[in-house]
Amino acid sequence: MSKILIIEDEEAIADLEKDYLEMSDFSVDIKNTGNEGLDAALASNYDLIILDLMLPGVDGFEVCKKIREKKNVPILMVSAKKDDIDKIRGLGLGADDYMTKPFSPSELVARVKAHLARYSRLVGSAEAKQNETIEIRGLKIDKAARRVFVDGEEKTFTGKEFELLTYLAENPNRVFSKEDIFRAIWGMESYGDIATVTVHIKKIREKIEYDTANPQYIETIWGVGYRFKI
Ligand code: CA
Repeated sequence: MSKILIIEDEEAIADLEKDYLEMSDFSVDIKNTGNEGLDAALASNYDLIILDLMLPGVDGFEVCKKIREKKNVPILMVSAKKDDIDKIRGLGLGADDYMTKPFSPSELVARVKAHLARYSRLVGSAEAKQNETIEIRGLKIDKAARRVFVDGEEKTFTGKEFELLTYLAENPNRVFSKEDIFRAIWGMESYGDIATVTVHIKKIREKIEYDTANPQYIETIWGVGYRFKI
């Protein structure tokens, strides 16, 4: 269940927002001052923060700035004045979205859901990048162990073959020239020529492709280079 923090001094508004968010299965905390809100935001891991601009004590501008220094959580700022929203945008405080009061609670819920979906996609793709295993159809590349499997069967790869396959698989659907590949895998300072790339691609295909005449992974783009297809 996603946890939402509402920082809002008008209790009736805060309660209404909370009711609607709880109906959509969010868990909601309310803080009525800037200081309490800031402490709560920094002390717990909320999935999203709804922050009112005009607050007693520390105002929403300051709270937003302070949260941003420490946390990446999505912040949705609300204000009764359209001018304030323009001002917030201009200040570049790092708020993710802005709403002018009054807004309908269902609009608020829709925005919250949209931000959470977007944020989880961003975090999800960052995690996938760190993932040590690449799996595409029957091909599995274990980067940490430097092992390659085709339909569960391990294939023996030399160091350069492994680096080349991993390089292409990590950049799918992108066309690389033989020069690009040579530079990336062998380095500028290396001796040798780009025919080495052709030889290595041929060897890799023999290990991973079912039919090397009709490769399903590494495709030849005639006159240009190669592309790893997903
Ligand atoms: Ca207020």
